[in-house]
Amino acid sequence: MSVRVRIAPSPTGNLHIGTARTAVFNYLFARHHDGKFILRIEDTDLERSRPEYTDNILSGLRWLGLNWDEGPFFQSQRLHLYREAVQKLLDQGLAYRCYTTFEELDALRETQKARNEAPRYDNRHRNLTPEQRAAFEAEGRSSVIRFKVEDKRQIVWNDLVRGQMSWCGSDLGGDMVIARASADGIGQPLYNFVVVVDDIDMEITHVIRGEDHIANTAKQLLLYEALRAKTPEFSHTPLIFNQEGRKLSKRDGVTSISDFQKMGFTAEGLVNYMTLLGWSAPDSTQEIFTLESAAKEFTFERVNKAGAKFDWDKLDWI
Ligand code: GLU
Repeated sequence: MSVRVRIAPSPTGNLHIGTARTAVFNYLFARHHDGKFILRIEDTDLERSRPEYTDNILSGLRWLGLNWDEGPFFQSQRLHLYREAVQKLLDQGLAYRCYTTFEELDALRETQKARNEAPRYDNRHRNLTPEQRAAFEAEGRSSVIRFKVEDKRQIVWNDLVRGQMSWCGSDLGGDMVIARASADGIGQPLYNFVVVVDDIDMEITHVIRGEDHIANTAKQLLLYEALRAKTPEFSHTPLIFNQEGRKLSKRDGVTSISDFQKMGFTAEGLVNYMTLLGWSAPDSTQEIFTLESAAKEFTFERVNKAGAKFDWDKLDWI
């Protein structure tokens, strides 16, 4: 099997250090196995996506030397694929149209809050009769497409960084929305769905991404099964934290690769720093890595489980 990995940044901001670090790990893994590194731009959020952010992401990756082998692919150009897959699930009865209104969902959330329950959709439109559906349509209600999530389902996978993972269907918030509807049928599909359709279509063998996606992986595994596709291996890498132990965010000031670039850091220095942010080399005294030398050594066994602390002092000497 030849290795195929990808990164899938959303062009809703400049290339973030966290995304760049995920790109470094994907790149190193691909090169270690003589595989392919694929770039996919997740621009399905039409309101927040901007072409200038796509340009910033592409030029940042190139500047760092993280050259991709295939792509960039743009999700906005692949809507037909997602709609086809949604239709397949609808036809098989694995997904359904849900007409629950925002007001009804708000009321449900309030009731759950009052009972100290976690918010979840109660699957109330899972078994509508054709008459009920027609009545909602006649009312002019808009709908979303939900995928059925069985509460009793156990979802397990062997994460290449975190080991055995286990989730219960009941922890996933009820039947999940995979697409909005539109007047002509299936509207904008949502992240968890498109990412699975794309990863299947692009024959991705290993999904390497931040651990903030763990719950998404549980949901996505159900979608692989429904679409009767082979699942890739999953690896969830630790997030980057600031000095106070919180996830590095815009509030921390400098977080994008172009900011570091403007401050005069070199690409080699940043690559070296990001490589060692959550990964340790077999020879712990070795501190200087290029993409090439790190690729020779890169394995998931040496990726830390704990969050990586962003440390300006360590970066300063570069
Ligand atoms: N657009 C998502 C992100 O940037 C992609 C997550 C994934 O790799 O599936 O976090």
